[in-house]
Amino acid sequence: MQIPEAAEDIIRKLNQAGFEAFVVGGCVRDTLLGRQPEDWDITTSAKPEQVKAIFGRTIDTGIQHGTVTIMRGKAGYEVTTYRIDGEYEDGRHPKSVEFTSNLIEDLKRRDFTINAMAYSHEAGLVDAFGGMEDLKQKKIRCVGSPKERFTEDALRILRAVRFSAQLGFEIEPETKKAITEIAPNLIHVSKERIQVELSKLLLSANPDYIREMYETGISPYVTPGFDLVPGESISIDSSLPADKSLRWSAFLRLTDEKSAVRILKDLKMDNDTISKTGTLVRWWNRPIPADKAEIRRIMSQMTPELYDNLILLKQSVGLEQLEEVVRLSGEIRMAGDCISLKTMAVTGRDLIEAGMKPGRELGVVLNHLFNQVLEHPEYNTKEYLLKEFVNRQ
Ligand code: ATP
Ligand code: MG
Repeated sequence: MQIPEAAEDIIRKLNQAGFEAFVVGGCVRDTLLGRQPEDWDITTSAKPEQVKAIFGRTIDTGIQHGTVTIMRGKAGYEVTTYRIDGEYEDGRHPKSVEFTSNLIEDLKRRDFTINAMAYSHEAGLVDAFGGMEDLKQKKIRCVGSPKERFTEDALRILRAVRFSAQLGFEIEPETKKAITEIAPNLIHVSKERIQVELSKLLLSANPDYIREMYETGISPYVTPGFDLVPGESISIDSSLPADKSLRWSAFLRLTDEKSAVRILKDLKMDNDTISKTGTLVRWWNRPIPADKAEIRRIMSQMTPELYDNLILLKQSVGLEQLEEVVRLSGEIRMAGDCISLKTMAVTGRDLIEAGMKPGRELGVVLNHLFNQVLEHPEYNTKEYLLKEFVNRQ
């Protein structure tokens, strides 16, 4: 197995000091699958103080759980002491953690068999729970009893569905059954963590695995109030670009804008994504007529990127013929037609200089002129618009 030079070096230094050390978890899983790991985690028998003494310059990223980070260039390598998680008290966090010198104990606390493998050049692959077999069979399976593992930490329920979407794996039946049983414990998981897992799921290669949420009965605990009409099914085109608001709107379009915004706010989504998703949910099933003035009017209500995503969303749903709209949109952009108040040839200041009093009426007049320009882009000259203003007085 190929591992980065820096990770190899960290392992070597720990070994030279008399400790065991392995790369572990997601990076082993991804490498075995031929995927590029996001980061490389290292697990070791050395206690945090010992790791710090060997490397000198370390960052205490999760010292209470035995994790310190070693920087190598721009990349950080998390080095965590083998540990056994103590009793879980709140359905999410262990009350305490205990360090151990036994690698297998450390692998045992991990969530899924495919995430519970370790590797070093010296010892080779350590796979005590059948992770390799499950990788081959494309199965998500808990280490140990699924019911117990989900009861300890309900976040694992969402991780199961998320990994299944990212990897295109099936959740094995006993694990799936336990998901349904323990789903109510999801109330112990913070909204933010739920949002992060759902976003990863929606941005994955198989966004419509979000169906599992309905099939396993976890949806009331993650997106309360969003119920599918019987017979309605979720289908999210996986060829849609992996853009957050685009993927979320492909999911939430089955509700209305108001509910979509409420769901996202409740999940502590960032405001930018909420606003973009809301706009996409508002427009996805409103037909765009093949008429330049109408198209300019719609374009004026969103950024060019959002408009492009709206077209992609509509194309993925397939309700409308959009070839002509796409062609006309291209012409509007090529011509540089004014579709924003910012690029209108007169400003509020111009109108004031031409004798208008500042105030609410100013906005009304600007909007009137802007509507004229959206209809007739050739009117977008200072001369014409000021004349129009004077005539209107
Ligand atoms: P990715 O980083 O691609 O999301 P990952 O498997 O690396 O996937 P991390 O959240 O980075 O996931 O966690 C690293 C490892 O820590 C996991 O592979 C798993 O072994 C363990 N782990 C993480 N979260 C949990 C959890 N809630 N319960 C049990 N083990 C966990
Ligand atoms: Mg990771």
